[in-house]
Amino acid sequence: MFPEGVRLEHKMPQQVMIRKALAEGYAIPAFNFSDIWELLAIVDAAKEEHAHVYVASNMKVIASMGYGFAAAMGLEAGRETEGNIALHLDHCNSVEQCCAAVDAGYNSVMIDASVKSLDENIEMSKRVAEYAHSRGCLVEAELGRIQGNTMEGSYDGGEFLADTQECIRLVTETGVDSLAVGIGNAHGFYKAPPRLNIERLKEIHSRVSVPLVLHGGTGIPDEQIRQCIENGIAKVNVGTLLHSTYLDTLKKELSRDWDGYGIMDRFAAVRDAVKEKCIRWIKLCGSDRRY
Ligand code: 13P
Repeated sequence: MFPEGVRLEHKMPQQVMIRKALAEGYAIPAFNFSDIWELLAIVDAAKEEHAHVYVASNMKVIASMGYGFAAAMGLEAGRETEGNIALHLDHCNSVEQCCAAVDAGYNSVMIDASVKSLDENIEMSKRVAEYAHSRGCLVEAELGRIQGNTMEGSYDGGEFLADTQECIRLVTETGVDSLAVGIGNAHGFYKAPPRLNIERLKEIHSRVSVPLVLHGGTGIPDEQIRQCIENGIAKVNVGTLLHSTYLDTLKKELSRDWDGYGIMDRFAAVRDAVKEKCIRWIKLCGSDRRY
C-alpha cells in the first residue's frame, strides 16, 4: 500500500499519504472545517468512500477555539479512521504558531511566508521544517501569490505565478514535504472562471520532487483539477464550498416551520449536505477506495 522504502511501524499512514498520492497519480482533498458538524460531515464522507483526506483548520478557527479543541477534534477523526485522515494547519504565517500546532499533535502544518522575500520565506520554512520533522510532522510551504476573493479579475498574470527557480531553491534549501504553488488560483468564489497555468505547473513539477498543492479548489472546473493532478498536484484544498453549503442549508432549515427547536435535526441536515459535497471532491481527486 505504501511507496517503496517507507517503513510504517504503526498504523498511522498520514506521513506517507501525500507521497503515495503523488506516486499513484491522484490527489488528497484537504477540507477546511470550522466546527464539529463540518468536521463530522468530512469524516462521514471519508469513511463512506474509504478515502484519504486532510481536515484543515485555519488561523481564524484557531483564534476562535484554540489548538486544544481543534486538535482534539481533528486527531479523533484520524483515530476513528485508523490514521487515514490527517490533521493539517492551513496558512499560518508565524513560525511560533506552526510549532504550537506541532506540539498540539498536528500531522501537518503549512508555513505561508509567500508575502515575504524569498530569503525570508526560505528561512522561516526551514525553521518550521526542522522543528516539525524532529516531531514527526509534515510541512507545506508556499510560493506565488494565491489571492483572496476580494480581488477583481484574473489571477494568472506573471506577478501571481510561482517562479520555477524559486521553487527549486525553496524545496532544496528547506526540506519541506510539499509546496503550494500559485498558478492562477485564488481563495473563495472566483469572479470569472479561472484559467490555471498548467504549463507553469508542468515546469515546476518536472524540476521539483515534492508533491505540489493546489489552493482555492472551490470553483475550479473539474477538467482543470484533473489536469493539475496529472501534473504533480497531490493535495487540493477546498473550503468555501463547504462553508457556503453549511450556511445555505442551515438558512433553509431555519426558514422551515418547526415544531419546537429541533437543533440536532437541523445540524443533521447540514451534515448530510456538506458530506455530499465532500464525496464529490473525493471522487474528483481520486482519493476514494484507498483503504
Ligand atoms: P477555497 O475556499 O477557495 O475552496 O480554498 C480553500 C483553500 O485553499 C484553503 O487553503
